[in-house]
Amino acid sequence: MQLQQLVGVLRDGSLPRRAIIVTFDDGYADNLYHARPLLERYDIPATVFVTAGYIEQEREFWWDELERLLLQPGTLPEKLHVNVDGSTHEWNLGEVARYRQEEYEHHRHWNYGKDDKPTPRHHIFLSLYRLLRFLPEGKRQKVLKELEVWAGTKPTVRRTHRALLRDEVIHLVDGKLIEVGCHTMTHPILSSLPQLEQRNEIQGSKKYLEQLLGRPVSSFAYPHGSRSDYTPETVAIVREAGFTCACSNSADIICRSSDPFELPRMQVEDWDGDELDRRLREWFGG
Ligand SMILES: [Zn+2]
Repeated sequence: MQLQQLVGVLRDGSLPRRAIIVTFDDGYADNLYHARPLLERYDIPATVFVTAGYIEQEREFWWDELERLLLQPGTLPEKLHVNVDGSTHEWNLGEVARYRQEEYEHHRHWNYGKDDKPTPRHHIFLSLYRLLRFLPEGKRQKVLKELEVWAGTKPTVRRTHRALLRDEVIHLVDGKLIEVGCHTMTHPILSSLPQLEQRNEIQGSKKYLEQLLGRPVSSFAYPHGSRSDYTPETVAIVREAGFTCACSNSADIICRSSDPFELPRMQVEDWDGDELDRRLREWFGG
C-alpha cells in the first residue's frame, strides 16, 4: 500500500489487515540504485523521506562521517581531545588506535542502536554520536572538522554512503511507484529547536522538494523519530505546513486509532530474508 493511500483508509475506517507500507529515511543514493530496481521487480510501492539540505551537498550524513572517521580500519592517534560546544572531552583509544581489517570485519554489523561497545572506538563513537545529535548543524560540522584534522584525513564522500543528487530525486519518482516525502533540511532533533527553526526546517524542506519535483509533497518523517525527538508543537507545525501524514519511529503496527501525524514504524535492520520473514510473522501475530 502507498503511504498516501493509508491516509485515506485511516480517515474512512477501512484499514485492510496485514497491509505493509515500505519507507526509507534520509535520502541515500542507494535508494535509487539498489532499492528501486527491487521494488519495481516486485511491484512494491515505497516512500523515500529525503533530507532536503543534503541534496547536492557532496558530503556524507554526519553520522556516517563519524563512522568513517572512527570505525574504519587504520591507525589513529591514541589520544583524542575534542571540544564539543565549549566543553572538552578526552578519550584514549588504547590498543585499537591501530584497528585491523579483521577487527573491523568482526564488528561490521554493529550499529549505534546497540548499547554494547565492543572496543574503545565504539565507545567514543557512541559518546560523540550522543553529543552531536543535539548540536545545531554549524557546531556539529565544527566538531567533525576537528576530528578530521585529528584523524589526518581529507573530506571524502563514499559512493556507498552519499545522498541523492537533484536529478536523482527527480528520477526516483518517475515510474509512480516511489513517493518522495520530507525529512527536514538538516536532520535535527526538532524538539531541541525553537519553534521558528522547527518551522524553517519543516516548511523549508517541503518548499524545496515541491519546487524540485513540481508536485505536492504530503508525507513527512520526524528525524530520529522517537517520542522525545519531536513535541506536540512539532506535530502542529507539520500539520499546518500542509502535510497529510507523518511517520515516527515508535515501534508498533498501525491500527484504526493511529494518529496519521504520528504513524508508528517497525525498523528493519540488516537482516537476511529468513530473519525478516520471522519478524514479519511475529509483528502480524503468526
Ligand atoms: Zn533520518
